[in-house]
Amino acid sequence: MKVQVCIIGGGPSGLLLSQLLHLQGIDTVVLERQSRDYVLGRIRAGVLEHGFARLMREAQCGDRMDREGEIHNGFEIAHDGVLDRVDLFKHSGGNSVMVYGQTELTRDLYEARDRLGGKIVHNAEDVTLHDLTSDAPFVTWRSGDGIGRVDCDYVIGADGFHGVSRKSIPSAVLREYEKVYPFGWLGVLSRTKPVSGELIYARHERGFALCSMRSHVLSRYYIQVPLSDHVEDWSDDAFWAELKRRLPDEVAARLITGPSIEKSIAPLRSYVAEPMRYGRLFLAGDAAHIVPPTGAKGLNTAASDVYYLHQALVARYKTGDEAALDGYSDRALARVWKAQRFSWWMTTLLHRFPDHIAYDQKLQQTELAYLFSSETAQRLLAENYVGLPF
Ligand SMILES: Cc1cc2nc3c(=O)[nH]c(=O)nc-3n(C[C@H](O)[C@H](O)[C@H](O)COP(=O)(O)OP(=O)(O)OC[C@H]3O[C@@H](n4cnc5c(N)ncnc54)[C@H](O)[C@@H]3O)c2cc1C
Repeated sequence: MKVQVCIIGGGPSGLLLSQLLHLQGIDTVVLERQSRDYVLGRIRAGVLEHGFARLMREAQCGDRMDREGEIHNGFEIAHDGVLDRVDLFKHSGGNSVMVYGQTELTRDLYEARDRLGGKIVHNAEDVTLHDLTSDAPFVTWRSGDGIGRVDCDYVIGADGFHGVSRKSIPSAVLREYEKVYPFGWLGVLSRTKPVSGELIYARHERGFALCSMRSHVLSRYYIQVPLSDHVEDWSDDAFWAELKRRLPDEVAARLITGPSIEKSIAPLRSYVAEPMRYGRLFLAGDAAHIVPPTGAKGLNTAASDVYYLHQALVARYKTGDEAALDGYSDRALARVWKAQRFSWWMTTLLHRFPDHIAYDQKLQQTELAYLFSSETAQRLLAENYVGLPF
């Protein structure tokens, strides 16, 4: 097979890029290691920056999102016995975020690719990248039909944190920056009405908690847990009891509980790989960087990579100009690091760290008190939460 752009990974980054390129007449194939059902069964992000929502519309994939997604103009932070609201709309100059599950968004992207006859290969095993520094790179994989091969102009590594693309860059070239946090998030998805119309982040002496949702009938709740905990240690009852302890009484009293339909523990990590280009290979999304989910920046940072990459490839194919491709890594990383900073800041502000001394806790309390006493501080938070421009 011969295409212009071979995309590795059929998650949101790979699918969105493939769709945007297709709409500009650029031929792509997506190689995905898993089956479609498996990809669509993963429960992940749910808060989209307004820029991501705009990109979904540009990709002709925004209809269901606009019908079923919920616009959120603010969120709350529970701390020190009070519940304070951040007015995103007011403090960001009229912007907001969209609550729409990554699972639904991925489904919309697959359907859009199918409608346009997009080429997607599922169950592609042992994907291997070849000759990345030549003018004629190619990718091979193994499937039930034998060995597949695609020749292309460019390879896009959109295969997530554990993918093969980043590992194809020689270690002498790749610089890695990593911070591992000493806790994880235990998340529960339940078919219950969310406890509030907006997200509630809670800083509590027992640890962080988050009340989130995927729709008005589907709730997603999280509590901070030690890395040594296992999902099997947590019955549904134990989870709900611990969540209630970390929420203000008035919120805990109206929390509707129910059986978990998904329960998992995600470790928290910040990671960036530089550069995001090696020869004809370009990395996008989690393949190059991840953040702790506090602040909901993971999926959204993937979207800005896709935006920059799509613009650069369109310029290359429409005018032959490679300047944007050459500048892609620096341009993407500039925004990636701002999302890293914000996610680290929110994580540090709201979690209980095992090595925190009383002084650190006083600083957290003071930072929150300052935040809600200063319009300037709330503007900084709102500007980052709704998403910096791209
Ligand atoms: C458990 C979990 C919870 C999360 N929760 C949140 C959240 O609440 N908020 C938030 O903003 N972000 C969250 N994130 C982050 C967010 O989901 C990611 O940033 C987002 O999925 C990035 O999209 P992506 O397409 O770059 O990578 P992925 O979604 O990881 O997609 C990569 C794709 O590549 C495929 N692949 C991997 N290896 C290969 C290979 N060798 N060959 C071919 N294909 C391969 C994978 O199967 C996958 O389909 C969460 C992530 C995880 C893991």
